[in-house]
Amino acid sequence: MAKPLILASNNAKKLHELQALLSPLGVSLLTQGSLGIAEAEEPHLTFIENALAKARHAAREGQGPAIADDSGLCVAALGGAPGVRSARYAVDAGRIAEGLPREQIDAANNAWLLDQMRDQADRRAHFTCLLVAVRHADDPEPLIATGHWAGTLLDAPRGAHGFGYDPLLWIDSHGASAAELPPEVKNAISHRALACTRMRELIATQWGPLDAADPRWPWQGA
Ligand code: IMP
Repeated sequence: MAKPLILASNNAKKLHELQALLSPLGVSLLTQGSLGIAEAEEPHLTFIENALAKARHAAREGQGPAIADDSGLCVAALGGAPGVRSARYAVDAGRIAEGLPREQIDAANNAWLLDQMRDQADRRAHFTCLLVAVRHADDPEPLIATGHWAGTLLDAPRGAHGFGYDPLLWIDSHGASAAELPPEVKNAISHRALACTRMRELIATQWGPLDAADPRWPWQGA
């Protein structure tokens, strides 16, 4: 039986991508929701601080090693916004009420971003994914991995795959929006894919082999 690693995310689509990307770790990923762990606060100004807060919260509540993702879209012409506020961009702007279904919020976020970018010539943007893994809540050496995925913003949504801002980011190398790419293609090249590859390497080198038979893994293994 593989040892469990708690996955600190409640966004179902993000969770699905992370589970596919982290499955080669050879551990069983347990979502924090399945353990009855509530979402952590994300009050910070940077991805790293939010991801660390989420990972520590999940490790503390779940009494085990945890991994968290904080991610978002950073737009050059907007000074990096919406950034850490990506999930709540339209809510923060008072364009939509809190607590509505994720699909409605995503559509409102996209509409608000298009509004902000009207007549803007510089349309460079990238997704950022920041992953943090901790062996326990007080781990002094969290593992940190990042990934970027750059593109240009369209002036209308395209495609039905993915989630969030995927319909607005044009990926030049593939001649498609991120939402037009089949999930397996997005999962091979995205910001989250890159961060997960780096995190898998970090776990392998820093925490050692994730072997269920090894009693040191992971909290005494380093
Ligand atoms: P978090 O759950 O606080 O990390 O917020 C992540 C938000 O960033 C999501 O709700 C999306 O709006 C956006 N985002 C992150 N990753 C992606 C992606 O892969 N595609 C599209 N939007 C993303």
